[in-house]
Amino acid sequence: MIDTVKRFIGNRPRTLLECRHCGVEAEPGAERCENCGSSEIATYRFGR
Ligand SMILES: [Zn+2]
Repeated sequence: MIDTVKRFIGNRPRTLLECRHCGVEAEPGAERCENCGSSEIATYRFGR
């Protein structure tokens, strides 16, 4: 999964939100997954 994330973001600093339940990317600031409605959103921060 980490390799996929790295490929997706390239080298630009950003934050990625991903549903812990289904793995779908969530919109920045989203509190719920649009796909499954889960509130368990993982936040990954990249860059400095
Ligand atoms: Zn989900």
